[in-house]
Amino acid sequence: MTDSPAPSFRSDMTVELVKHSAADTDVLWAARVSTAGEQSLDELKKDPERSKGLINYLMRDRHGSPFEHNSMTFFISAPLFVFREFHRHRVGWSYNEESGRYRQLQPVFYVPDESRKLVQQGRPGKYEFVEGTPEQHKLTVEAMEDTYRTAYARYGELLEAGVAREVARAVLPVGLYSSMYATCNARSLMHFLGLRTQHEQAKVPSFPQREIEMVGELMEQRWAELMPLTYAAFNANGRVAP
Ligand SMILES: Cc1cc2nc3c(=O)[nH]c(=O)nc-3n(C[C@H](O)[C@H](O)[C@H](O)COP(=O)(O)OP(=O)(O)OC[C@H]3O[C@@H](n4cnc5c(N)ncnc54)[C@H](O)[C@@H]3O)c2cc1C
Repeated sequence: MTDSPAPSFRSDMTVELVKHSAADTDVLWAARVSTAGEQSLDELKKDPERSKGLINYLMRDRHGSPFEHNSMTFFISAPLFVFREFHRHRVGWSYNEESGRYRQLQPVFYVPDESRKLVQQGRPGKYEFVEGTPEQHKLTVEAMEDTYRTAYARYGELLEAGVAREVARAVLPVGLYSSMYATCNARSLMHFLGLRTQHEQAKVPSFPQREIEMVGELMEQRWAELMPLTYAAFNANGRVAP
């Protein structure tokens, strides 16, 4: 029944924009509909400066709802501990994640690469992370890989013995990769980015875990291409969601 592949280890996160309907013009249309009824998708080209100014005004004064009339669906692969943090974002998000009840989980596990700062300094709420030594990095990778191999072997044993997947999965660690679809709009994404990324233009600094930040950075790149004026206004106004 169980065909157990060998564990593999990775350090990256992947984010694919699988579907979208999101443009700066969606914001303009929503903002102007109540007054002028202007529904033209050519608005942006007609008067770019006015469009830019309106989006900036909406962002600055936190008129948030015009930023909701768009949609982005991402396919994300990341460790379980990242998804646990991710799913705390409840408003303006829809999720579907692969199931550990209906299929055998694949042995792909997270290990930090050399760029991941390993040592935490400072007080809660104001942490700083600094480089670990080569010895600390080696120890971390070894400890994780050993644990993952043992855990996945025991998982396979339980499945072989006829134990249900939903029970057997309890032996697997949170470094296991999972995948999900996450759908959001620009407003909910901005709220997420304000909390889960660090950025020099952020008015209110946050101290996210690096791994969820890596996911956020990839989502941010995709979104910036779709809605450049909204993205610029977000940064110019301190990366606070309207
Ligand atoms: C750096 C960092 C550290 C964290 N550490 C911890 C931790 O140690 N433990 C922990 O449990 N969580 C922790 N969190 C998670 C955090 O508390 C939030 O759950 C998470 O950031 C989602 O934020 P949110 O609730 O604003 O988002 P959403 O759930 O998407 O909500 C968006 C906004 O909607 C409004 N809203 C949503 N629900 C309600 C409600 N029920 N009542 C009133 N208004 C509502 C709020 O204005 C909210 O900001 C941490 C988050 C970060 C970024």
